[in-house]
Amino acid sequence: MRFETKLAQAGNRTDPSTGAIVTPVHHATTYAHPELGRSTGFDYTRLANPTRKVLEETIAALEGGHAGFAFASGMAAIHGVCQLFQPGDHVLVSQDLYGGTYRLFEQILTPLGVTASYLDTGDEASVAERVQPNTRALFIETPTNPTMQITDLAAAVGFAKARGLWVIVDNTFMTPYWQRPLSLGADIVVHSATKYLGGHNDVLAGLVVARDPALCERISFYHNAIGAVLGPQDAWLLLRGLKTLALRMERHEQNARALAEWLAQRDEVARVYYPGLPDHPRRAAHERQAAGYGGMISFEVRDAAWVPAILSNLRVITFAESLGGVESLMTFPAVQTHHDIPADVRETLGVTDKLLRLSVGIEHVEDLMEDLAGAFAAARGMGR
Ligand SMILES: *Cc1c(COP(=O)(O)O)cnc(C)c1O
Repeated sequence: MRFETKLAQAGNRTDPSTGAIVTPVHHATTYAHPELGRSTGFDYTRLANPTRKVLEETIAALEGGHAGFAFASGMAAIHGVCQLFQPGDHVLVSQDLYGGTYRLFEQILTPLGVTASYLDTGDEASVAERVQPNTRALFIETPTNPTMQITDLAAAVGFAKARGLWVIVDNTFMTPYWQRPLSLGADIVVHSATKYLGGHNDVLAGLVVARDPALCERISFYHNAIGAVLGPQDAWLLLRGLKTLALRMERHEQNARALAEWLAQRDEVARVYYPGLPDHPRRAAHERQAAGYGGMISFEVRDAAWVPAILSNLRVITFAESLGGVESLMTFPAVQTHHDIPADVRETLGVTDKLLRLSVGIEHVEDLMEDLAGAFAAARGMGR
């Protein structure tokens, strides 16, 4: 089956006793054993739940991996994967990344002896320079959040394989609809499924997919042993959201391409970060590994003093954290998602007090342009 078909058919007819088109929500926490030594495949819901299992098989098929694991959040998923590291291990991490992942490495893993170095993982020379004898993995976001830096995944995999390192990719921004890192040789993909995969700002969830069966065994053990698993109702919501992923991603991108070009022409805007713009420094690498540019745009306004008025004068776009839902959201990374990154580090990464991030929804694009134009005018004291 092709990708769109797998999505639309996710969970269809998984219940042979009724033929239900939609996967049932299995709330049972425990399952009767037919006799001593036999199981239906379900014993206790932390280990396996029928609704969650359909979701896990779906994401494994979409990413092209051996097995999938549904966690209670994106952070729980990333934390689960990081159990693969032992005290003394070191990880090379994309320098401009989700603030919560930075916080996990700095405040949870580092005190336990697992250290991280942050760098442009797309710069092969600095990766080669910063790798240490105890380095175990590359943890990559491509595009990064929020400045849309690109890492050439095939090159990163080549480097990692030669040294026995794992390549872990946070694929939240692209989703498997646009980019499938496992097919390029990456070992593990992680997702905040709260974003595009759920797609409706109504479910918090994380997903992990790995390629190697032995690695899947280990992740499965941590998944159950730690217990940050996704509940059945949330697994069902996520399956429901996934069915329309292809349609949503097409529209998110169509709107984002139009808006990125529109923003680049605006007098109020100093700089636009979007991998689909001709001046993006690693656009070619992105195009080799992804089928689309996605729905996330960051842009810098010329005057930081305009930011509060822009945020309070939006009428269609909502000033809120998060991304990937059908409704457009505007985030101010320096004070929201990236607040836990020290100010000087943030500035060098480009996460300045002039930078705004836009999660482009599926509305009519002209309503979004008119909304931004109105907010810009208000910020410049020209009324709304
Ligand atoms: C939101 C996000 C996370 C964290 O996911 P939660 O579901 O909020 O725990 C991780 N990585 C990226 C890229 C994200 O956008």
